[in-house]
Amino acid sequence: MTSYSQRSAIGRLLTKERGTIYKVFGSLPSAAICFPNIYRLGASNLGLHFLYQTVNSRSDFLGERFFCDFQPISLENCQPLNRFNIILFPIPYELDFANCLEMLHCAGIPPLRKDRTEAHPIICAGGVAVTMNPLPLYDFMDIMVLGDGELTLPVLLDTFIGTKGKKQEILQTLRGDTGFFVPGDEHDDEISKIPRRAIYHDLIGPPISSVFLTPETEFPDTCLLEMTRGCPYNCAFCYIGHNQKPFRFHHFESITQVMKDKSSMTNRFGLISSAVTAHPELDKICEYAMRERLDISFSSLRADHLSDPVIGILIQSGQRTLTLAPETGSDEFRNALAKSMTNDEILDAVARGLKAGIVNLKLYFILGLPGEGAGEIEASAELVRKIQRILVEEGRKRGHIGEIIVAVSFFVPKPGTPFAAKPQPGISDLKKRQQRFHASLRALPHVRFQPADPYEAAVQMRLSCGGRDTAKILLNKIKGRLSWKTALGLFKT
Ligand code: SF4
Repeated sequence: MTSYSQRSAIGRLLTKERGTIYKVFGSLPSAAICFPNIYRLGASNLGLHFLYQTVNSRSDFLGERFFCDFQPISLENCQPLNRFNIILFPIPYELDFANCLEMLHCAGIPPLRKDRTEAHPIICAGGVAVTMNPLPLYDFMDIMVLGDGELTLPVLLDTFIGTKGKKQEILQTLRGDTGFFVPGDEHDDEISKIPRRAIYHDLIGPPISSVFLTPETEFPDTCLLEMTRGCPYNCAFCYIGHNQKPFRFHHFESITQVMKDKSSMTNRFGLISSAVTAHPELDKICEYAMRERLDISFSSLRADHLSDPVIGILIQSGQRTLTLAPETGSDEFRNALAKSMTNDEILDAVARGLKAGIVNLKLYFILGLPGEGAGEIEASAELVRKIQRILVEEGRKRGHIGEIIVAVSFFVPKPGTPFAAKPQPGISDLKKRQQRFHASLRALPHVRFQPADPYEAAVQMRLSCGGRDTAKILLNKIKGRLSWKTALGLFKT
């Protein structure tokens, strides 16, 4: 796309947005908020909204947004990335690491830290993927922010102001502080220097919510709202459950206050949480939303806590798809994964949802988990068959049979979990497991199989658990504009 067509595309996007924040570029120190993926995904990312709100709520800073589907110019003032003082990358997934480097490269900023000078912007990365394992980005970033941004972002911006933006002084000031991982020189013993993550224990203040709304995203014109942080469950494969403790939640009053405050912009709210049904006041919140005629959507729901008020608000809001994560179809195996949920509870949730008016289902399964054999894969297929029978039966009564999407992901060992040291099966093994699962569902009508990419899972595993050397995979990927498969092959040789 030419620069002119880029600007036109950005202009069209902004005319559809509400809540965009404009300040005069050049009048204040500037932060580029770079989401390392496309606009459609970034607009539904609460980490991005948090940065946009926090930076711009200050009178001494300005923040503008960048996305991967545009050249590196800001949406608000069409300014090039290399003109900003600080670059902030909120990174939810490991595979987005490569997009960060690509964005820098496209902006003429050397991705490797050793190739940059004092004159280049200060480049910072944060978010779950960085907190989980900052080492793949060690050679690229000036600062990596670990943990909750409420505690770290104000310190970073204050330090910038206090040092008048002198990069070396900023790095010296922050090095070793809780939540700030500031890399040293090439020969550093980096692992011993990873600081503790910052934990915002109290979750005081209003919940993080959408600053701007747009129809051009997964949740169109919806105000996303953070319900909880962490998770009270401890599924053995899951990073969040084991590493984002303690489980915290926003109270009914603060959640409904956001709903009231944003009611002039929208009546649609997306409740975001890794464990929304663990919120102790969820039913009360749903009943409030019913009374106020608000439309509510959820990121995903746990089948064992699917209450009638939750189903009720889904139906009233016009939601037609129920998203559940059985992970496996074997109760025994699910128990071994420390996921306390049974097939009976899943089938009951499905039946109640379909009876109430849900039409489609999305089911998440993980393949390649430690201890998984052919029997566990068959059990997952059997659970889908049972769910499909309920879907068809309820659909016939209604005169329309919906669809089940079976979405697969592969096991990726995560640091700080009981499965951290468990091996991920090899790529050909992962492919076979997926083929076996797919084959057992192929003949089943109304079921759509959404496969996972085993190469991406293999890269994800290295980026989640690997050391500084994994930077090579990222460099391979961006230098040659390679697929993950090829970038991984070069890393191994
Ligand atoms: S998989 Fe879901 S329920 Fe289990 S620990 Fe993780 S976030 Fe919590």
